[in-house]
Amino acid sequence: MNFNFDLSTKIRIENVSGFREYLEMIKNHKVLLILSKTMEERFQLSDCIKIFEKENKCNRILKVSPNPTEKDIKNVLDTVDVKFDLVVAIGGGSAIDLAKGAIALSYCIGENYSEESILESIVNKEYLKYKNVIEFVAVPTTAGTGSEVTKWGTIWQGDHTKKLSVEADWLAPTSAVIIPEVTVKMPIRLTLSSGLDALSHATESYWSKKSNPISRELSKSAIRLIKEYLPKVIKEPDQYEYREKMCYGSLFAGLAFANTRTTACHSISYPLTMKHGVEHGFACAVTLTEVMKYNQKEIIEYDELLKAFGMSNIDEIKNWIDMQCSGIQELRLSAFGVDKKDIEDVVQNTFTTGRMDNNPVDLSIEDVRDILIKVK
Ligand SMILES: [Zn+2]
Repeated sequence: MNFNFDLSTKIRIENVSGFREYLEMIKNHKVLLILSKTMEERFQLSDCIKIFEKENKCNRILKVSPNPTEKDIKNVLDTVDVKFDLVVAIGGGSAIDLAKGAIALSYCIGENYSEESILESIVNKEYLKYKNVIEFVAVPTTAGTGSEVTKWGTIWQGDHTKKLSVEADWLAPTSAVIIPEVTVKMPIRLTLSSGLDALSHATESYWSKKSNPISRELSKSAIRLIKEYLPKVIKEPDQYEYREKMCYGSLFAGLAFANTRTTACHSISYPLTMKHGVEHGFACAVTLTEVMKYNQKEIIEYDELLKAFGMSNIDEIKNWIDMQCSGIQELRLSAFGVDKKDIEDVVQNTFTTGRMDNNPVDLSIEDVRDILIKVK
């Protein structure tokens, strides 16, 4: 089997004090800093940011809305008064995705642009004509997104009609700084949803059409870690060791799907998030085991996948996922306010190129409808 495996991002595992020192070493850059006040406080970065702002020409974005749109990208471009040569994004998946959107569209700085032209550039991939290779440091504050090692960022159309993305090799962060310490304060609901996102990345990458021996090993390692440590971290959220293991699980899953992409569960998740506000991790995990039933016969080394879960069949996996969600969020569409009457609209919006067609089994509209009805 011939295949490529890309590793374009330098990975650094740090603690908070090491990260402060790392930031203080950065000098004489024109920086776009994406960092909310809440994150600044959580990291106790205030003094260090003062130094950072003094040593660099720094434009800062203080507010990151969940699921960034073309409007949020325009807001970033409006805020910066000079083309940046370094981006530091500290936050959840949305902060890192917003940074990717801003880098992709940074050719607009100093030019005429509007929300419409930004949207057009994303939809028609015009930004690809301008290869903006910018040093980019991504610092995730959750354990799940994987965005710190991927070359694409999710951008949502502002009127909630479409999930878009920016994608290019030069959009992958040059460095990912993983700081398990900062995930200790993550609320339980976010811990669960981001953990389930990572589990979906690992599992979908495993059965993806583009999976390869390296990605599958990473997927299995991720699944083993998440299976062991998600229940522990939910029970004892303050335990550093459990948080650290979840960060590794998320990172391994990220490295796997950065090379293979995700599949049907992610494709089905987009309308659930866009139209019904279902958090990304739940929106992916809700169909994971039903999609697995469809995919089962086409999964390479399927028994190895079950072994990574430490289970002998799909129903056991489903029960395990439901058990983790118990008391936090029932994992059914109706529990998120998605009614039977909404299903048809979701079905019609689930087919995302690059995701659905990466599923090992070609799912028809009828199959997706059947999957959604089973989890209603
Ligand atoms: Zn995801």
